[in-house]
Amino acid sequence: MIIVLKPEATEVDAKEILAQIENLQLKPLYMPGTERIVLGALGDERVLNQLNIAAHPMVENVKPILSNYKQVSREMQSHDSEVKFGNYTIGGGTFTVIAGPCAVENKEQIHQSAAIVKKHGAVGLRGGAFKPRTSPYSFQGLEEEGLKLLKEASQEYDLPCVTEIIDANHVDMMEDYIDAFQIGARNMQNFKLLKAVGQSQKPVLLKRGMSATIEELLLAAEYIYNEGNKNVVLCERGIRTFEKATRNTLDLNAVAYIKTKSHLPVFVDPSHGTGIRELVSPMAKAAVACGADGVIVEAHYNPKIALSDGQQSLDEPHFEKMMRELIPFVEAAGKVLNK
Ligand code: PEP
Ligand code: MN
Repeated sequence: MIIVLKPEATEVDAKEILAQIENLQLKPLYMPGTERIVLGALGDERVLNQLNIAAHPMVENVKPILSNYKQVSREMQSHDSEVKFGNYTIGGGTFTVIAGPCAVENKEQIHQSAAIVKKHGAVGLRGGAFKPRTSPYSFQGLEEEGLKLLKEASQEYDLPCVTEIIDANHVDMMEDYIDAFQIGARNMQNFKLLKAVGQSQKPVLLKRGMSATIEELLLAAEYIYNEGNKNVVLCERGIRTFEKATRNTLDLNAVAYIKTKSHLPVFVDPSHGTGIRELVSPMAKAAVACGADGVIVEAHYNPKIALSDGQQSLDEPHFEKMMRELIPFVEAAGKVLNK
């Protein structure tokens, strides 16, 4: 529930109420505003009802949070969140393009791919070092060696990097190499992993599971928030439907819907969302149009020899064309392209 204090309430009043909340084993939240102090109490609904907080003389009103997700909801925070990624701000009226290969394969590949995406305007570098592959016989990633190569390319081309984490015990080790964690679709409900990245302060790009509802995605984000990490960016990457023509069905409804229900920035991944190189640029433009704050796109200096997802990776001409075509859409959306 959200507890709005009267304008004359002091920090001492707030602390007294927060202590009552804590005594009932509820999670207290302190949100001082410019005009009023707002408090939150999160936890078991039955216990919440025992809290007769509305009777407190310094309480102006008490509102229940109707959605199951609380801290990431617009009910809790009406303004959009912004997340720092390297020196860039994700959200807050900006549009961010992160690009790079599906996986880090070798030094030449990550450097050449980084050079291409930098040249044409991406501001972040992606590349998986731990790859959760459907088949155990597919390339599984270079692991820590891949992180070293990613960091080297990230520094050389001045592109903050994002890479997937698949093991809760890897947080400390990975923090030295990366600017943001990615939680992949297959791990969206790996609650141990969500809690582990929640204890870091690095940004987390949380991808929607391929069979996850929007509410489940928002509850997964709530797990990260609840541990104290507020640097969460959601990512729509396509869901499984009966449609077989494309790899997934990119659910852009989700982007527009989430914007009404949550204050978190939302990215779109049109590469996994379509699985087809020629569809990446059109769907990236559609992502801008429906309100996304950025895209994460697969790009490879030579997709023909890519060890994973070559069929959906943009080569240099396709990447250059996508960037060129995105610009008027970003302007039309009233956003500023991060450069
Ligand atoms: C990826 O980004 O390479 C990836 C595996 O994505 P997803 O988790 O969305 O399938
Ligand atoms: Mn991929």
